Amino acid sequence: MSNTDFVLAVEDLTVSFDGFKAIDSLNLYVDRGELRVVIGPNGAGKTTLLDLICGKTKASAGSIKFKNQEMTRLPEHMIVRAGIGRKFQTPSIYENLSVFKNLEVSYPRGRGVFGALGFKCDDAVKAKVDEVAGMIGLADRLDLEAGLLSHGQKQWLEIGMLLMQDPELLMLDEPIAGMSARERELTADLLNRICQNRSVIVIEHDMDFVARIAHKVTVMHQGKILAEGSMDKVQSDPKVIDVYLGH
Ligand code: ADP
Repeated sequence: MSNTDFVLAVEDLTVSFDGFKAIDSLNLYVDRGELRVVIGPNGAGKTTLLDLICGKTKASAGSIKFKNQEMTRLPEHMIVRAGIGRKFQTPSIYENLSVFKNLEVSYPRGRGVFGALGFKCDDAVKAKVDEVAGMIGLADRLDLEAGLLSHGQKQWLEIGMLLMQDPELLMLDEPIAGMSARERELTADLLNRICQNRSVIVIEHDMDFVARIAHKVTVMHQGKILAEGSMDKVQSDPKVIDVYLGH
């Protein structure tokens, strides 16, 4: 496969903070429809990598190509528009609005909550809300105030708000943090459904969950990739064992 066939191709990516290389000449290639999990000890550079891909942090060197288009120096909103969605750990939803409104205002046509609230909800938006609500398991909660949802449901709603924009690459930072066992199960199913026609990058610490969802695992350490491959392969890699056991 040539590098142009990947949905995401990160090459020689480097970012320095006061001379410290948080990401150091990193290469990462993600396939279409792939669910990639990034693991690694605290400080490995996982969050910084996602910050670079979504444009929150600007690279010192290297390139980030999405669908073969250069993203490296684009502003954050252009990267979102190109089809990259990012969810942070803490849900940022409109607690006082209904689930329906939260999804409706996330439809790209009505950017920003004030603009969108004045919008007449046309059939296309409603159909999209219904589709996404079904996908995230909240179809029977559309009229509920979002603040009344459970912690897990709020996380799914935020994923749904991203799905309203039809991203082709979705990046999630510890999506099951604080979830019950049942919610974790449902989140694994949801991620599985999402990557039927999208690519997903997840940062995760829970190894049972990683084993359950990952198509491929990338292990980071000190701003570099230490190992990459199936969960079985990286788990038995002596370099990975060393880093995790601190030998
Ligand atoms: P991880 O997500 O794997 O825990 P991070 O990406 O948060 O790691 O951090 C990687 C390293 O980069 C850490 O040493 C962190 O302190 C440093 N770092 C991250 N962001 C900044 C910043 N804005 N300024 C200075 N150092 C930073």
